[in-house]
Amino acid sequence: MTDCLFCKIISGDIPSTKVYEDEYVYAFRDINPQAPTHVLVIPKKHVSGMSAVDEMDDASLAACLRACRLVAAQEGLNDGGYRVVSNCGDHACQSVHHLHFHVLGGRQMADTMA
Ligand code: 5GP
Ligand code: ZN
Repeated sequence: MTDCLFCKIISGDIPSTKVYEDEYVYAFRDINPQAPTHVLVIPKKHVSGMSAVDEMDDASLAACLRACRLVAAQEGLNDGGYRVVSNCGDHACQSVHHLHFHVLGGRQMADTMA
């Protein structure tokens, strides 16, 4: 998608700090981190969000979750633990409509999903 922010990050038109990349996935640091580690894991093929994952091939979808695990390990989060979040739609405050998984860690998270 030409006017999608994260597609532009994948293509390199918008710079980002890469954390991990493979055939299916790109992972980079969030520009406005909410925790000491805050990485966004995104599929290279554009899909608008969680509500559209039925449009994805299984390899790409699985690669996203595997990349979340790999990024967490790479960032040293296995001992302390971490959170993986995907906001979908208005109530969840999704602001970029390209599927992404936030990998958050490095501090104690609140004991609430709100
Ligand atoms: P959402 O609110 O859709 O769940 O998450 C979008 C995330 O993208 C936010 O955490 C926001 O900080 C991040 N973000 C927005 N624009 C940019 C950008 O240009 N570069 C990077 N690295 N992150 C961005
Ligand atoms: Zn996109």
